[in-house]
Amino acid sequence: MSFNSLGLSEALLKAVSKQGYTTPSPIQQKAIPLILEGKDVLASAQTGTGKTAGFTLPMLQKLSQGQQMRKRPIRALVLTPTRELAAQVHNNVKAYSEFLDIRSAVIFGGVNQRPQVATIRNGVDILIATPGRLIDLQSQGLLSLAKIEILVLDEADRMLDMGFLRDIKKIIGLMPTRRQNLLFSATFSKEIKKLAGEFLHHPVLVEATPENSTVDAIEQKVYRVAKALKTGLIIKLISEGNWQQVLVFTRTKHGANKLCKKMIAAGISAAAIHGNKSQGARTKALAGFKSNKVRVLVATDIAARGLDIPLLPHVVNFELPNISEDYVHRIGRTGRAGASGEAVSLVCGEERGYLRDIEKLIGFKIPIEIVEGFEPDPNAPSTPPKKKQNQRNSRRSNSKNTKPKSKNSGKSNDNNSSGSSKRSGRNRNRNRNRNRRNNDNRG
Ligand code: AMP
Repeated sequence: MSFNSLGLSEALLKAVSKQGYTTPSPIQQKAIPLILEGKDVLASAQTGTGKTAGFTLPMLQKLSQGQQMRKRPIRALVLTPTRELAAQVHNNVKAYSEFLDIRSAVIFGGVNQRPQVATIRNGVDILIATPGRLIDLQSQGLLSLAKIEILVLDEADRMLDMGFLRDIKKIIGLMPTRRQNLLFSATFSKEIKKLAGEFLHHPVLVEATPENSTVDAIEQKVYRVAKALKTGLIIKLISEGNWQQVLVFTRTKHGANKLCKKMIAAGISAAAIHGNKSQGARTKALAGFKSNKVRVLVATDIAARGLDIPLLPHVVNFELPNISEDYVHRIGRTGRAGASGEAVSLVCGEERGYLRDIEKLIGFKIPIEIVEGFEPDPNAPSTPPKKKQNQRNSRRSNSKNTKPKSKNSGKSNDNNSSGSSKRSGRNRNRNRNRNRRNNDNRG
């Protein structure tokens, strides 16, 4: 199939061809005609599937065909969970609208609002925003959503994880009820389905990849290793494997900083990206990594969400995520748009439970290797520290409707998880969300 058969205008086909795309990706093939028809769409698509063009191209076509108002009110809104994703989507919108008379802008927190406000005042057709800054500017009377025709929720699962549900509902309440709604999410929890049920009108379900499946092109591997030897092992893998562009995930911001320093001490150029870093530092780290000046980018989950780094060859889980779905998101950073990639996880004794949960979710056993000199510690505890376990349980109850693949996977390994009351589970979720909101890169 070619882009010509999707019903897109000449101006858009020209822009697509300028990007070097020849064939629409599966999500683009399915979503573009439906969006052009004006349908609400509920799409299951991982980052890396080409979903941004999947909603941006038809959105641009509809807006450019619609009535152009002199003052250019905001007619389309794309909400994203993180600043980096917002910036990325805006770059795509700019590239695809090069040959159209469409103006776009991006707004997010952590930077001065004045230039953002000035751009909006000049009139924009499409606004890409993180929820926090959007509500902030709206409540100051600096923008209006009264003329919205199309709403896109990008990476909706992550927005809910970050505690944006109330903000999303508030934002939706500021828009006209008659509008087209598009919801993109990599995973489908009960909460996502509920959200979709509340604000999508007779949505068409579009699936680009099976739920929670990991991209086929990604080679996955687990290194069993003692906790204290992880730093030595990762440095060995990167140096001896001559890996030139490596995205490394740690569970905490402190862990990211510490690992980054050790990499630099070992002569490997590295930068960290997480919610405690200023927006300037994050942008610089990402730019350095993309341009190959920085070999290793050490990131926490939320900061790394949605980053589009084309053809990323190596992803390393320095620690496994305690939330299995995050594993799918993390390794989605490699093997993008059909390219091959390698995802490696360093697993110590106390993470074995996390590994089991991940394997249940993805539906297969990840091959294990042990490197001589970096063996696992036979005396290591096999369960994670108590605090983390609680967090995991609360999240499990939160995302239990995410369809696992294996027949056992609906059951918890852990008796505690079902023992806690619903209310305390909800409170824990609320606290967790609040912590994430406070600590990481909210807009
Ligand atoms: P996304 O899932 O939207 O983050 O896109 C992932 C990457 O795929 C981006 O670098 C896009 O530029 C690229 N891409 C999107 N559509 C296509 C296509 N049809 N052919 C080749 N690459 C594409």
